[in-house]
Amino acid sequence: MDHVLHLTCLVCGRTHDPEAVAYVCPDHGNEGILDVGYDYDLIGKRISPATLARNSDPTIWRYKPLLPVAPDSPVPALTVGGTPLYAAPRLAAAIGLSQLWVKDEGREPSASFKDRASAIALVRAQAQGAAVITTASTGNAAAALAGLCASVAQENVIFVPAAAAPAKIAQLLAYGSRVVLVQGSYDQAFELCLQAAAEYGWYNRNTAFNPYMTEGKKTASYEICEQLRWNAPDAVFVGVGDGCIIGGLHKGFRDLLELGWIDHIPRLYGVQALGSSFLLQAWESGEDVLTKAPAPAETIADSISAGLPRDRIKAMAAVRDTGGAFIGVSDDEILAAIPALARGSGVFAEPAAAAAWAGCIKAAERGLVSGAERVVVVSTGSGLKDVASARRAVAASGPEPLTVAPDIDALRAVMAVRRPGAEKRASLGNFQ
Ligand SMILES: *Cc1c(COP(=O)(O)O)cnc(C)c1O
Ligand SMILES: [Zn+2]
Repeated sequence: MDHVLHLTCLVCGRTHDPEAVAYVCPDHGNEGILDVGYDYDLIGKRISPATLARNSDPTIWRYKPLLPVAPDSPVPALTVGGTPLYAAPRLAAAIGLSQLWVKDEGREPSASFKDRASAIALVRAQAQGAAVITTASTGNAAAALAGLCASVAQENVIFVPAAAAPAKIAQLLAYGSRVVLVQGSYDQAFELCLQAAAEYGWYNRNTAFNPYMTEGKKTASYEICEQLRWNAPDAVFVGVGDGCIIGGLHKGFRDLLELGWIDHIPRLYGVQALGSSFLLQAWESGEDVLTKAPAPAETIADSISAGLPRDRIKAMAAVRDTGGAFIGVSDDEILAAIPALARGSGVFAEPAAAAAWAGCIKAAERGLVSGAERVVVVSTGSGLKDVASARRAVAASGPEPLTVAPDIDALRAVMAVRRPGAEKRASLGNFQ
Protein backbone atom coordinates (compact mmCIF):
# COMPACT_ATOMS: atom_id res chain seq x y z
CA MET A 1 0.00 0.00 0.00
CA ASP A 2 2.65 2.49 -1.08
CA HIS A 3 -0.04 5.06 -1.99
CA VAL A 4 -1.18 5.51 1.64
CA LEU A 5 1.31 7.96 3.18
CA HIS A 6 0.14 8.81 6.67
CA LEU A 7 -2.73 9.35 9.10
CA THR A 8 -3.23 12.94 10.29
CA CYS A 9 -4.87 13.63 13.65
CA LEU A 10 -7.66 16.17 13.20
CA VAL A 11 -7.15 17.42 16.76
CA CYS A 12 -3.39 17.98 16.95
CA GLY A 13 -2.34 17.77 13.30
CA ARG A 14 0.35 15.20 14.05
CA THR A 15 0.90 12.56 11.38
CA HIS A 16 1.17 8.89 12.19
CA ASP A 17 2.50 5.87 10.36
CA PRO A 18 -0.47 3.78 9.14
CA GLU A 19 1.48 0.63 10.03
CA ALA A 20 1.90 1.79 13.63
CA VAL A 21 -1.51 3.31 14.42
CA ALA A 22 -4.70 1.31 13.84
CA TYR A 23 -7.58 3.65 14.66
CA VAL A 24 -7.22 6.95 16.56
CA CYS A 25 -4.41 9.35 17.52
CA PRO A 26 -2.59 7.82 20.51
CA ASP A 27 -2.37 11.29 22.07
CA HIS A 28 -6.07 12.09 21.78
CA GLY A 29 -7.99 8.90 22.44
CA ASN A 30 -11.42 8.46 20.88
CA GLU A 31 -11.56 12.15 19.90
CA GLY A 32 -8.35 11.85 17.87
CA ILE A 33 -10.03 11.08 14.55
CA LEU A 34 -7.54 10.48 11.76
CA ASP A 35 -7.56 11.45 8.10
CA VAL A 36 -5.89 9.15 5.59
CA GLY A 37 -3.29 10.90 3.43
CA TYR A 38 -2.33 9.70 -0.05
CA ASP A 39 0.43 10.08 -2.62
CA TYR A 40 -1.66 11.62 -5.39
CA ASP A 41 1.22 11.72 -7.89
CA LEU A 42 1.55 7.96 -7.58
CA ILE A 43 -2.21 7.41 -7.75
CA GLY A 44 -2.46 9.64 -10.82
CA LYS A 45 -0.07 7.31 -12.64
CA ARG A 46 -2.26 4.29 -11.86
CA ILE A 47 -5.77 5.52 -12.58
CA SER A 48 -7.36 8.28 -14.67
CA PRO A 49 -10.72 9.15 -16.20
CA ALA A 50 -9.47 7.45 -19.36
CA THR A 51 -8.63 4.14 -17.65
CA LEU A 52 -11.94 4.29 -15.80
CA ALA A 53 -13.81 4.74 -19.08
CA ARG A 54 -12.40 1.37 -20.18
CA ASN A 55 -13.12 -0.36 -16.84
CA SER A 56 -16.31 -2.42 -16.89
CA ASP A 57 -16.40 -3.05 -13.11
CA PRO A 58 -19.33 -0.95 -11.84
CA THR A 59 -18.49 -1.38 -8.12
CA ILE A 60 -16.42 0.78 -5.74
CA TRP A 61 -13.44 -1.44 -6.58
CA ARG A 62 -13.09 0.33 -9.94
CA TYR A 63 -11.48 3.05 -7.77
CA LYS A 64 -9.17 0.61 -5.96
CA PRO A 65 -5.96 2.66 -6.54
CA LEU A 66 -7.67 5.45 -4.54
CA LEU A 67 -8.70 3.18 -1.66
CA PRO A 68 -6.73 2.10 1.44
CA VAL A 69 -6.46 -1.52 0.36
CA ALA A 70 -3.66 -3.47 -1.30
CA PRO A 71 -3.94 -3.81 -5.11
CA ASP A 72 -4.10 -7.60 -4.89
CA SER A 73 -6.45 -7.82 -1.89
CA PRO A 74 -9.48 -10.03 -2.50
CA VAL A 75 -12.81 -8.19 -2.41
CA PRO A 76 -16.31 -9.47 -1.62
CA ALA A 77 -18.55 -10.42 -4.51
CA LEU A 78 -21.51 -8.28 -3.46
CA THR A 79 -21.85 -5.29 -5.80
CA VAL A 80 -21.16 -2.36 -3.52
CA GLY A 81 -21.48 1.01 -5.24
CA GLY A 82 -22.43 1.63 -8.84
CA THR A 83 -25.76 3.05 -7.72
CA PRO A 84 -27.90 5.09 -10.12
CA LEU A 85 -27.85 8.89 -10.34
CA TYR A 86 -31.31 9.80 -11.62
CA ALA A 87 -32.17 13.11 -13.25
CA ALA A 88 -35.28 14.37 -11.44
CA PRO A 89 -36.71 17.25 -13.49
CA ARG A 90 -40.06 17.35 -11.66
CA LEU A 91 -38.40 17.62 -8.27
CA ALA A 92 -36.15 20.33 -9.67
CA ALA A 93 -39.08 22.30 -11.09
CA ALA A 94 -41.02 22.00 -7.83
CA ILE A 95 -38.38 24.12 -6.08
CA GLY A 96 -37.43 26.43 -8.95
CA LEU A 97 -34.32 24.59 -10.13
CA SER A 98 -33.55 23.27 -13.58
CA GLN A 99 -30.99 20.54 -12.81
CA LEU A 100 -31.34 18.09 -9.97
CA TRP A 101 -30.30 14.47 -9.54
CA VAL A 102 -31.07 11.81 -6.93
CA LYS A 103 -28.32 9.35 -6.01
CA ASP A 104 -30.17 6.20 -4.98
CA GLU A 105 -28.18 4.44 -2.26
CA GLY A 106 -31.17 2.25 -1.47
CA ARG A 107 -29.77 0.13 -4.30
CA GLU A 108 -26.77 -1.05 -2.28
CA PRO A 109 -26.68 -4.78 -1.34
CA SER A 110 -27.99 -4.16 2.19
CA ALA A 111 -30.06 -1.17 1.01
CA SER A 112 -28.08 1.73 2.48
CA PHE A 113 -25.02 3.89 1.89
CA LYS A 114 -23.22 2.06 4.73
CA ASP A 115 -22.18 -0.79 2.45
CA ARG A 116 -19.50 1.47 0.99
CA ALA A 117 -17.75 1.74 4.36
CA SER A 118 -18.36 -1.80 5.56
CA ALA A 119 -16.78 -3.18 2.38
CA ILE A 120 -13.52 -1.40 3.23
CA ALA A 121 -13.72 -2.64 6.84
CA LEU A 122 -14.16 -6.22 5.66
CA VAL A 123 -11.25 -6.14 3.21
CA ARG A 124 -8.90 -4.51 5.72
CA ALA A 125 -9.95 -6.81 8.57
CA GLN A 126 -9.40 -9.89 6.46
CA ALA A 127 -6.02 -8.62 5.28
CA GLN A 128 -5.05 -8.50 8.98
CA GLY A 129 -6.48 -11.95 9.60
CA ALA A 130 -9.08 -10.65 12.07
CA ALA A 131 -11.19 -13.41 13.62
CA VAL A 132 -14.15 -11.17 14.44
CA ILE A 133 -15.34 -7.77 13.19
CA THR A 134 -17.60 -5.60 15.32
CA THR A 135 -19.59 -2.40 15.07
CA ALA A 136 -22.24 -0.41 16.85
CA SER A 137 -24.95 1.08 14.72
CA THR A 138 -28.44 2.55 14.64
CA GLY A 139 -29.07 -0.32 12.21
CA ASN A 140 -27.76 0.36 8.72
CA ALA A 141 -24.02 0.19 9.38
CA ALA A 142 -24.75 -3.05 11.20
CA ALA A 143 -26.81 -4.48 8.35
CA ALA A 144 -24.09 -3.50 5.90
CA LEU A 145 -21.35 -5.15 7.91
CA ALA A 146 -23.53 -8.20 8.58
CA GLY A 147 -24.35 -8.68 4.89
CA LEU A 148 -20.81 -8.25 3.67
CA CYS A 149 -19.51 -10.60 6.36
CA ALA A 150 -22.15 -13.17 5.44
CA SER A 151 -20.99 -13.03 1.82
CA VAL A 152 -17.58 -14.36 2.85
CA ALA A 153 -18.49 -16.26 6.06
CA GLN A 154 -16.69 -13.75 8.30
CA GLU A 155 -17.65 -13.86 11.97
CA ASN A 156 -19.06 -10.58 13.33
CA VAL A 157 -20.69 -9.12 16.43
CA ILE A 158 -23.19 -6.28 16.16
CA PHE A 159 -24.32 -3.82 18.83
CA VAL A 160 -27.61 -2.02 18.14
CA PRO A 161 -30.07 -0.19 20.37
CA ALA A 162 -32.87 -2.58 21.36
CA ALA A 163 -35.27 -0.03 19.83
CA ALA A 164 -33.68 -0.24 16.35
CA ALA A 165 -36.10 -0.49 13.38
CA PRO A 166 -37.44 -4.09 13.21
CA ALA A 167 -36.50 -4.49 9.53
CA LYS A 168 -32.90 -3.68 10.37
CA ILE A 169 -32.74 -6.17 13.25
CA ALA A 170 -34.37 -8.80 11.03
CA GLN A 171 -31.67 -8.18 8.41
CA LEU A 172 -28.91 -8.76 10.98
CA LEU A 173 -30.42 -12.00 12.19
CA ALA A 174 -31.05 -13.23 8.66
CA TYR A 175 -27.40 -12.62 7.80
CA GLY A 176 -26.42 -14.75 10.80
CA SER A 177 -24.61 -12.12 12.86
CA ARG A 178 -24.17 -12.35 16.61
CA VAL A 179 -26.55 -9.55 17.59
CA VAL A 180 -26.35 -7.68 20.88
CA LEU A 181 -29.45 -5.59 21.60
CA VAL A 182 -28.33 -2.81 23.91
CA GLN A 183 -30.94 -1.47 26.31
CA GLY A 184 -29.98 2.14 25.71
CA SER A 185 -29.27 4.71 23.03
CA TYR A 186 -27.04 4.41 19.98
CA ASP A 187 -24.45 6.50 21.83
CA GLN A 188 -24.43 3.95 24.65
CA ALA A 189 -24.25 1.02 22.24
CA PHE A 190 -21.25 2.73 20.62
CA GLU A 191 -19.38 3.05 23.93
CA LEU A 192 -20.11 -0.55 24.83
CA CYS A 193 -18.90 -1.76 21.45
CA LEU A 194 -15.63 0.17 21.78
CA GLN A 195 -15.04 -1.46 25.15
CA ALA A 196 -15.91 -4.91 23.83
CA ALA A 197 -13.59 -4.54 20.83
CA ALA A 198 -10.71 -3.60 23.13
CA GLU A 199 -11.48 -6.39 25.56
CA TYR A 200 -11.83 -9.19 23.00
CA GLY A 201 -9.42 -7.93 20.35
CA TRP A 202 -12.05 -7.65 17.62
CA TYR A 203 -11.53 -5.61 14.45
CA ASN A 204 -13.38 -2.35 15.06
CA ARG A 205 -15.53 -0.93 12.24
CA ASN A 206 -17.05 1.85 14.33
CA THR A 207 -17.82 5.05 12.45
CA ALA A 208 -15.17 7.76 12.85
CA PHE A 209 -13.14 5.66 15.33
CA ASN A 210 -12.03 3.64 12.30
CA PRO A 211 -10.55 6.27 9.95
CA TYR A 212 -10.97 4.09 6.87
CA MET A 213 -14.79 4.27 6.86
CA THR A 214 -14.55 7.76 5.37
CA GLU A 215 -12.49 6.24 2.57
CA GLY A 216 -15.28 3.87 1.60
CA LYS A 217 -17.93 6.55 1.75
CA LYS A 218 -15.93 8.89 -0.48
CA THR A 219 -16.57 6.58 -3.43
CA ALA A 220 -20.06 8.06 -3.80
CA SER A 221 -18.46 11.38 -4.78
CA TYR A 222 -16.31 9.62 -7.38
CA GLU A 223 -19.43 8.03 -8.84
CA ILE A 224 -21.42 11.26 -8.86
CA CYS A 225 -18.63 13.07 -10.72
CA GLU A 226 -18.04 10.21 -13.12
CA GLN A 227 -21.78 9.93 -13.81
CA LEU A 228 -21.80 13.68 -14.53
CA ARG A 229 -18.78 13.25 -16.86
CA TRP A 230 -16.36 14.80 -14.36
CA ASN A 231 -18.38 17.99 -14.25
CA ALA A 232 -18.87 18.29 -10.48
CA PRO A 233 -22.26 19.46 -9.19
CA ASP A 234 -22.64 22.83 -7.43
CA ALA A 235 -24.39 21.56 -4.31
CA VAL A 236 -24.96 18.21 -2.60
CA PHE A 237 -27.57 17.47 0.10
CA VAL A 238 -27.32 14.59 2.55
CA GLY A 239 -28.78 13.57 5.90
CA VAL A 240 -26.26 13.82 8.76
CA GLY A 241 -26.08 11.86 12.00
CA ASP A 242 -22.52 10.95 12.98
CA GLY A 243 -21.19 12.94 10.05
CA CYS A 244 -19.19 10.17 8.41
CA ILE A 245 -21.08 10.25 5.12
CA ILE A 246 -20.75 14.00 4.62
CA GLY A 247 -17.10 13.82 5.66
CA GLY A 248 -16.62 11.00 3.16
CA LEU A 249 -18.31 12.93 0.37
CA HIS A 250 -15.99 15.85 1.12
CA LYS A 251 -12.94 13.59 1.01
CA GLY A 252 -13.99 12.16 -2.33
CA PHE A 253 -14.36 15.57 -3.92
CA ARG A 254 -11.05 16.72 -2.42
CA ASP A 255 -9.29 13.66 -3.88
CA LEU A 256 -10.70 14.43 -7.32
CA LEU A 257 -9.71 18.09 -7.12
CA GLU A 258 -6.21 17.06 -5.99
CA LEU A 259 -5.95 14.73 -8.99
CA GLY A 260 -7.19 17.50 -11.29
CA TRP A 261 -10.19 15.46 -12.48
CA ILE A 262 -12.71 18.12 -11.39
CA ASP A 263 -12.33 21.90 -11.21
CA HIS A 264 -14.34 22.69 -8.09
CA ILE A 265 -15.80 21.12 -4.94
CA PRO A 266 -19.58 21.31 -4.49
CA ARG A 267 -21.07 23.11 -1.51
CA LEU A 268 -22.05 20.41 0.96
CA TYR A 269 -25.34 20.78 2.85
CA GLY A 270 -25.76 18.62 5.95
CA VAL A 271 -29.40 18.03 6.82
CA GLN A 272 -30.17 17.24 10.45
CA ALA A 273 -33.42 16.39 12.18
CA LEU A 274 -34.35 19.22 14.56
CA GLY A 275 -34.66 16.58 17.30
CA SER A 276 -31.03 15.49 16.81
CA SER A 277 -29.20 18.61 15.77
CA PHE A 278 -25.82 18.76 17.51
CA LEU A 279 -24.01 19.85 14.37
CA LEU A 280 -26.67 22.36 13.33
CA GLN A 281 -26.50 23.90 16.81
CA ALA A 282 -22.71 24.10 16.72
CA TRP A 283 -22.88 25.56 13.21
CA GLU A 284 -25.28 28.29 14.31
CA SER A 285 -23.62 29.10 17.65
CA GLY A 286 -20.01 28.72 16.59
CA GLU A 287 -19.38 26.34 19.50
CA ASP A 288 -16.33 24.07 19.33
CA VAL A 289 -17.59 20.58 18.46
CA LEU A 290 -14.87 19.03 20.60
CA THR A 291 -16.08 20.63 23.82
CA LYS A 292 -19.80 20.96 23.12
CA ALA A 293 -21.90 18.67 25.33
CA PRO A 294 -24.01 15.95 23.69
CA ALA A 295 -27.43 17.14 22.48
CA PRO A 296 -30.74 15.27 22.80
CA ALA A 297 -31.33 12.76 19.99
CA GLU A 298 -35.02 12.13 19.42
CA THR A 299 -36.26 11.80 15.84
CA ILE A 300 -38.23 9.49 13.60
CA ALA A 301 -35.20 9.44 11.32
CA ASP A 302 -33.35 6.79 13.36
CA SER A 303 -30.34 6.66 11.04
CA ILE A 304 -29.48 10.30 11.76
CA SER A 305 -30.20 10.15 15.49
CA ALA A 306 -26.87 10.81 17.22
CA GLY A 307 -26.46 12.81 20.43
CA LEU A 308 -22.70 13.09 20.01
CA PRO A 309 -21.85 12.83 16.31
CA ARG A 310 -18.72 10.71 16.19
CA ASP A 311 -17.35 12.23 13.01
CA ARG A 312 -18.19 15.80 14.02
CA ILE A 313 -14.79 17.23 13.11
CA LYS A 314 -14.92 15.93 9.55
CA ALA A 315 -18.61 16.87 9.20
CA MET A 316 -18.00 20.43 10.32
CA ALA A 317 -15.03 20.79 7.96
CA ALA A 318 -17.08 19.40 5.06
CA VAL A 319 -19.72 22.09 5.45
CA ARG A 320 -17.45 24.97 6.43
CA ASP A 321 -14.68 24.41 3.87
CA THR A 322 -17.08 24.05 0.94
CA GLY A 323 -19.29 27.06 1.71
CA GLY A 324 -22.29 24.88 2.50
CA ALA A 325 -24.52 24.90 5.58
CA PHE A 326 -26.29 22.72 8.09
CA ILE A 327 -30.05 22.75 7.71
CA GLY A 328 -32.62 21.59 10.26
CA VAL A 329 -35.86 19.83 9.33
CA SER A 330 -38.73 18.69 11.54
CA ASP A 331 -39.98 15.12 11.73
CA ASP A 332 -43.16 16.22 9.93
CA GLU A 333 -41.09 17.67 7.11
CA ILE A 334 -39.04 14.47 6.94
CA LEU A 335 -42.17 12.33 6.78
CA ALA A 336 -43.71 14.55 4.09
CA ALA A 337 -40.52 14.23 2.07
CA ILE A 338 -40.92 10.43 1.80
CA PRO A 339 -43.95 10.47 -0.56
CA ALA A 340 -42.75 13.70 -2.19
CA LEU A 341 -39.44 12.11 -3.19
CA ALA A 342 -41.09 8.84 -4.16
CA ARG A 343 -43.73 10.55 -6.34
CA GLY A 344 -41.31 13.03 -7.83
CA SER A 345 -38.53 10.61 -8.73
CA GLY A 346 -39.56 7.00 -8.10
CA VAL A 347 -37.01 6.69 -5.29
CA PHE A 348 -38.44 5.26 -2.05
CA ALA A 349 -36.42 6.50 0.92
CA GLU A 350 -36.26 5.81 4.63
CA PRO A 351 -36.74 8.90 6.84
CA ALA A 352 -33.02 9.78 7.19
CA ALA A 353 -32.67 9.58 3.42
CA ALA A 354 -35.80 11.60 2.69
CA ALA A 355 -34.45 14.24 5.09
CA ALA A 356 -31.99 15.24 2.36
CA TRP A 357 -34.90 16.18 0.09
CA ALA A 358 -36.64 18.03 2.93
CA GLY A 359 -33.43 19.99 3.48
CA CYS A 360 -33.10 20.74 -0.22
CA ILE A 361 -36.61 22.22 -0.25
CA LYS A 362 -35.65 24.46 2.70
CA ALA A 363 -32.42 25.51 1.04
CA ALA A 364 -34.30 26.54 -2.10
CA GLU A 365 -36.78 28.54 0.02
CA ARG A 366 -33.86 30.37 1.62
CA GLY A 367 -32.17 31.03 -1.71
CA LEU A 368 -29.16 28.83 -0.88
CA VAL A 369 -29.60 27.03 -4.19
CA SER A 370 -31.24 28.50 -7.24
CA GLY A 371 -31.74 28.68 -10.99
CA ALA A 372 -29.42 26.65 -13.15
CA GLU A 373 -27.28 25.34 -10.31
CA ARG A 374 -26.61 21.62 -10.52
CA VAL A 375 -27.84 19.91 -7.36
CA VAL A 376 -27.52 16.34 -6.12
CA VAL A 377 -29.72 14.87 -3.38
CA VAL A 378 -28.26 11.72 -1.84
CA SER A 379 -30.98 9.27 -0.86
CA THR A 380 -28.97 7.24 1.64
CA GLY A 381 -31.26 4.30 2.36
CA SER A 382 -34.29 2.38 1.11
CA GLY A 383 -37.81 3.09 2.30
CA LEU A 384 -38.24 -0.63 2.91
CA LYS A 385 -35.94 -0.22 5.93
CA ASP A 386 -38.72 1.49 7.87
CA VAL A 387 -42.15 0.65 6.57
CA ALA A 388 -43.86 1.94 9.72
CA SER A 389 -42.64 5.47 9.00
CA ALA A 390 -43.63 5.21 5.37
CA ARG A 391 -47.15 4.20 6.41
CA ARG A 392 -47.34 7.17 8.76
CA ALA A 393 -46.20 9.44 5.96
CA VAL A 394 -48.81 8.26 3.48
CA ALA A 395 -51.56 8.29 6.09
CA ALA A 396 -50.82 12.01 6.42
CA SER A 397 -50.36 12.75 2.71
CA GLY A 398 -53.02 10.50 1.18
CA PRO A 399 -54.44 9.20 -1.03
CA GLU A 400 -56.11 6.44 0.93
CA PRO A 401 -56.36 3.05 -0.75
CA LEU A 402 -59.74 1.89 -2.07
CA THR A 403 -60.99 -1.29 -0.45
CA VAL A 404 -63.31 -3.43 -2.58
CA ALA A 405 -64.85 -6.88 -2.81
CA PRO A 406 -63.19 -8.86 -5.62
CA ASP A 407 -65.75 -8.10 -8.31
CA ILE A 408 -66.08 -5.45 -11.01
CA ASP A 409 -69.45 -4.12 -9.83
CA ALA A 410 -68.04 -3.41 -6.41
CA LEU A 411 -65.10 -1.65 -8.05
CA ARG A 412 -67.44 0.42 -10.27
CA ALA A 413 -69.42 1.48 -7.23
CA VAL A 414 -66.30 2.64 -5.43
CA MET A 415 -64.84 4.37 -8.48
CA ALA A 416 -68.08 6.28 -9.04
CA VAL A 417 -67.98 7.91 -5.63
CA ARG A 418 -66.38 11.30 -5.68
CA ARG A 419 -64.06 11.55 -2.76
CA PRO A 420 -62.71 14.89 -1.60
CA GLY A 421 -59.59 15.59 -3.62
CA ALA A 422 -59.88 12.31 -5.53
CA GLU A 423 -59.86 14.01 -8.91
CA LYS A 424 -56.66 15.90 -8.31
CA ARG A 425 -54.92 12.94 -6.77
CA ALA A 426 -55.96 10.58 -9.53
CA SER A 427 -54.87 12.78 -12.42
CA LEU A 428 -51.61 11.34 -13.63
CA GLY A 429 -48.51 13.44 -13.33
CA ASN A 430 -50.04 15.72 -10.74
CA PHE A 431 -48.61 14.05 -7.73
CA GLN A 432 -46.72 16.96 -6.23
C1 LIG B 1 -25.95 6.44 8.54
C2 LIG B 1 -26.99 7.08 7.72
C3 LIG B 1 -27.06 8.46 7.53
C4 LIG B 1 -26.12 9.43 8.19
O1 LIG B 1 -24.76 9.12 8.05
P1 LIG B 1 -23.74 9.66 9.13
O2 LIG B 1 -22.41 9.22 8.65
O3 LIG B 1 -24.13 9.02 10.44
O4 LIG B 1 -23.89 11.14 9.19
C5 LIG B 1 -28.05 8.97 6.73
N1 LIG B 1 -28.96 8.16 6.16
C6 LIG B 1 -28.94 6.83 6.31
C7 LIG B 1 -29.98 6.01 5.65
C8 LIG B 1 -27.95 6.23 7.10
O5 LIG B 1 -27.96 4.92 7.27
ZN1 LIG C 1 -3.73 13.94 18.09
